[in-house]
Amino acid sequence: MNIKGYYIDLEKAVKIINKNDYKNIVLQVTEGLKHIFKDFVDFFEIKTKANIFISADPCFGACDIPSFFCENTDIDLIIQIGHLPIPEFSESSIPIMFLNAFSDADVSKVVEKALPSIKGKKIGVLTTAQHIHKIDDVKNILFKNNFEPVICKGDKRIDSPGQILGCNFSAATKIVDDVDMYLFIGSGTFHPLGLLLSTKKPVISCDPYTDEVKFKELEDFKDMILRQRYGAIARSKDAKVFGIVVCSKSGQYRFNEVEKIKKLIESKNKKSYILIANFFLSSFLESFRDIDCFVSLGCPRVAIDDYMQYEKPIITPIELEIVLDVKKWDDYKFDEIIN
Ligand code: SF4
Repeated sequence: MNIKGYYIDLEKAVKIINKNDYKNIVLQVTEGLKHIFKDFVDFFEIKTKANIFISADPCFGACDIPSFFCENTDIDLIIQIGHLPIPEFSESSIPIMFLNAFSDADVSKVVEKALPSIKGKKIGVLTTAQHIHKIDDVKNILFKNNFEPVICKGDKRIDSPGQILGCNFSAATKIVDDVDMYLFIGSGTFHPLGLLLSTKKPVISCDPYTDEVKFKELEDFKDMILRQRYGAIARSKDAKVFGIVVCSKSGQYRFNEVEKIKKLIESKNKKSYILIANFFLSSFLESFRDIDCFVSLGCPRVAIDDYMQYEKPIITPIELEIVLDVKKWDDYKFDEIIN
């Protein structure tokens, strides 16, 4: 089905639902497409006899499956629209179907526009799920212009070669010593920022929706974020009580790091409490007012991208090590969920 500039294989889901005579379906739609949820539901209601339960909670990634609800009800299938799967945890007692939204935006124009800004010969090519099917087009343009594109598949959290997530840049870090810079295809600063912080190499971003090429602005943005992180670390130095926030979403689950973090905090004669949450909410600051600093073990982007929303510092596990003088600022690394 082509819908608002995306190809989404809803028919694939219809076949599975009808073949298995599924009665109850949970439909999760990524935030960017949630406003057209009716189109999806209407389609399934016409083509199947299933009841469609729409997940109203925010859905920012394939890490976030409402498995607890589904495992305790008569849900037959979970359909998540807008993401590629995270293969390492896509197995569950309830079948999950990921239907990616493949953008029909042309990538060639913006990549051609970026060519004069590319420095070096070997170029790592990276993108998100929406443009993953266009990665060969980018590769061919680079070849034709005498560059050597390098495309690598990341770790077990990654579905396709060249794909990155906001929490996983392994497709880039695996080739960091083999490339001169990276070309990112996609919109916004969310992914290029992570790419810059994770690889510490230059990134040019090509936005196929606006045909904008960004380089210098990304560097400036990265520098601003690093200043914020330096500030968050400095503000956490006097903290006496830490809240270790463990996310209950199955794909953000870093339970095995909790004990190490707790021991580290206590080895510095400071106190820590372990909190479990599905989302980090601003109300935590009031509810847990005795906590001076939160260490986020959920989505690594909560600490980085939502910094301005909270009065108290939220830091990543790597930043905690700098706060506690186990590591130096020069050792700063972007927090990722890698496998
Ligand atoms: S953990 Fe965060 S960045 Fe990673 S997939 Fe989930 S929402 Fe996206």
